[in-house]
Amino acid sequence: MQILLASNNAKKLRELQTILDSAGIDGVEVLPLSAVDAYEEPVEDGRTFADNALIKARAGAKHAGLVTVADDSGIAVDELNGMPGVLSARWSGAHGNDEANNELLLGQMAHVPDERRAAAFVSVCALVTPEGEEHVVEGRWPGRLLRASQGEGGFGYDPLFVPTEEDEAGTGRSAGELSPEEKNAISHRGRALSQLVPVIKDLAG
Ligand code: IMP
Repeated sequence: MQILLASNNAKKLRELQTILDSAGIDGVEVLPLSAVDAYEEPVEDGRTFADNALIKARAGAKHAGLVTVADDSGIAVDELNGMPGVLSARWSGAHGNDEANNELLLGQMAHVPDERRAAAFVSVCALVTPEGEEHVVEGRWPGRLLRASQGEGGFGYDPLFVPTEEDEAGTGRSAGELSPEEKNAISHRGRALSQLVPVIKDLAG
């Protein structure tokens, strides 16, 4: 069976393929958007991660005629009532400007004391079949926001975020200081994608 991952992010594709392989699911090939006939990608104008993931997965199932998985993710800060949330990629107004987004978030949180700096990376994954079957799963990676950037690795808000695991271990590294393998093993996306394994197993028969 072929599954379309409605993304051209090679890392996300490898992550899903690895999760399926390690779950012992044979005969499932994960395809990127570039492997199917081009279609106009829908506007991600949902109000929640689930809305946006479903918008992308429904479009893939409709246009490519394949079981389609799509994810939407971001960082949710308790003190900001869950924002930046779905606006994470464009929090400062410019889409994908990590530096400006991080600076704005640090400024907004500057007055907030240590005990109120809880945040979580969230990933919602939707799986939609061409017949209209829909599944939505969510993975959360809890932690706290730093007061300044720490670490050069990762992307997005990684250098501002210390996962709870790191605090519990007393190491206090930010997500930007973890190796890609360490991050993938515990991150929000892995936690969400793993929940799709039983669904995909069923569909693959
Ligand atoms: P997307 O769902 O991959 O488009 O990610 C949306 C936005 O959320 C990104 O631009 C980042 O700002 C943020 N984000 C999502 N996942 C992560 C992560 O693992 N680390 C850091 N930032 C993330």
